[in-house]
Amino acid sequence: MPLKGLAERVFIVTGGSSGLGLATAARLLEEGASVALLDIEGAERTAGELGREALGLSLDVTVEPEVKSVFGAVRKHFGRIDGLFNNAGIGSAARPLAETELADLERLLRVNVGGAFLCMREMLRIAAASNGRAAIVNTASGTGMRGAPNLGSYSATKAALIALTRAAALEAAPAVRVNAVLPGPIDTPMTAAMPDAVRERVTARVPLGRFGTATEVAALVAWLLSDEAPYVTGGLYSIDGGETA
Ligand code: NAD
Repeated sequence: MPLKGLAERVFIVTGGSSGLGLATAARLLEEGASVALLDIEGAERTAGELGREALGLSLDVTVEPEVKSVFGAVRKHFGRIDGLFNNAGIGSAARPLAETELADLERLLRVNVGGAFLCMREMLRIAAASNGRAAIVNTASGTGMRGAPNLGSYSATKAALIALTRAAALEAAPAVRVNAVLPGPIDTPMTAAMPDAVRERVTARVPLGRFGTATEVAALVAWLLSDEAPYVTGGLYSIDGGETA
């Protein structure tokens, strides 16, 4: 059965060329929504592969004027924007804090916090200007909620995004619902380069005994964006096979 309130709506998916973004764009299209997938690379090609109601536009989420103009272009193309999967992000090589350069932390902050902030702010402004209702889902991470050895910088960016999610949910209610998903280890290009020994160690921490799939995360995101979740805002949704239970 289709999820209520997705058909005929328009959603932006950042980081839509790959992994969680691509799977979510595909799921929203299956539900009958129109989707603008935005990515620093491959957006037009990916949208072409996904089909007619997908629009692909190139965007570096860290460039403030680009965010404004690309969101404006999406609005012009579809006539409206009803929601945002604020998902573009980068990972980092595992490294103890004692060996981390300030530049590494700054690079992660720029994309995972700065970029996510700019996209969320643009969506909030658009919703306010149109007096419309909207939903935002941010991609945080389970590492933003717990101590994550060797991933200190990355986890700090996701903790910051959790804080932004909660503030936005309080500020923007009741017009805009804002939630975050907190994936554990998910099979995407981001985790594909993990050495086998690390992969085994990570899998051993997961009660369900495996990595999740991007499609499983997409199902949760689609639900949060839909009218099946009208009373859900400010929430943090773990999807991690029980890793943080
Ligand atoms: P991915 O590398 O497959 O996809 C990330 C996408 O973001 C890519 O298409 C990339 O081009 C895009 N991107 C990167 N920088 C960008 C920028 N400046 N502007 C626009 N687009 C940019 O990785 P993924 O696993 O699908 O990751 C998606 C999100 O999920 C990220 O925020 C990541 O931190 C988060 N996450 C992933 C996992 C996991 O295990 N895969 C776990 C927790 C959280």
